[in-house]
Amino acid sequence: MKEAARLARAENKIVGLVPTMGALHAGHMALVDRARRECSQVVTSIFVNPTQFGPKEDLAKYPRTFEADSQKLAAAGVDAIFAPQPADIYPPNFHTYVNVEGLSDRLEGRSRPGHFRGVATVVLKLFEICQPTYAYFGRKDAQQVRIITQMVRDLNLDVEIVICPIVREPDGLALSSRNAYLNLDERKAALVLNRALTAARDELASGTRDPLLLQSTMQKIFAAEPRAALDYAEVVDADTFEPVTRVSRPCYVLIAAFLGKTRLIDNLYIEPAPTSDDLVFHF
Ligand code: AMP
Repeated sequence: MKEAARLARAENKIVGLVPTMGALHAGHMALVDRARRECSQVVTSIFVNPTQFGPKEDLAKYPRTFEADSQKLAAAGVDAIFAPQPADIYPPNFHTYVNVEGLSDRLEGRSRPGHFRGVATVVLKLFEICQPTYAYFGRKDAQQVRIITQMVRDLNLDVEIVICPIVREPDGLALSSRNAYLNLDERKAALVLNRALTAARDELASGTRDPLLLQSTMQKIFAAEPRAALDYAEVVDADTFEPVTRVSRPCYVLIAAFLGKTRLIDNLYIEPAPTSDDLVFHF
């Protein structure tokens, strides 16, 4: 892969990288399609990264569908699939990890200790190996892409991060490889994430700017769905990921919840409209 990357750079190719853990769905493919439009060479990595899973998480049972994934990527016109084995990425005596301080400690980082250290480490390695001009990430994992952007800035990496919108099922459930774990009942109940975010959006649209009101609305919606257990529902500054006291600058409403054993996340991104008191929603 490094050899191919060197060659591409020597030929002045614009290389787009789409890092994934496989089990590809339309959310991943939207990143691939955007990369295809913007780059002269597209690399998709498929790697279920062990260092970003906690000891009690779903590493062993995470869906692995390499054959189907490669067919989808070939049909989408991807130039290369980089699918290393764990021992290629973490050989014996591996000792170096990347820790993006502060941003990694809250929300997903608090619920999943060590998660972002694993993410930042593997993404830096993927950047070094694939040498992309652009790397494509979904807003679905909002805190992740914020941390990656910080790492790129802090370590002077020669890659530009492109953030793509969340792709949803027709009923509003955000696509996720982990949706495959849901039984029928959990699948129905999983719509509670979308309901809570929609309610927050509607309250914002009708003028509410107090995050505590939005939080209490979302908590009530979860309280009415006993099959879901809320991990967090928070309104944070889109830059610092710290809680805000008023929605008046770019913010995220972030939700994490358990449906049975399956942990799902979703979010609503909010920007003030440039010329009025209105808000623009990315949902
Ligand atoms: P994963 O395979 O879950 O690590 O995801 C790989 C990339 O796809 C990440 O940048 C995710 O944010 C992105 N992604 C996952 N689900 C979606 C979705 N529903 N919409 C947009 N991007 C997504």
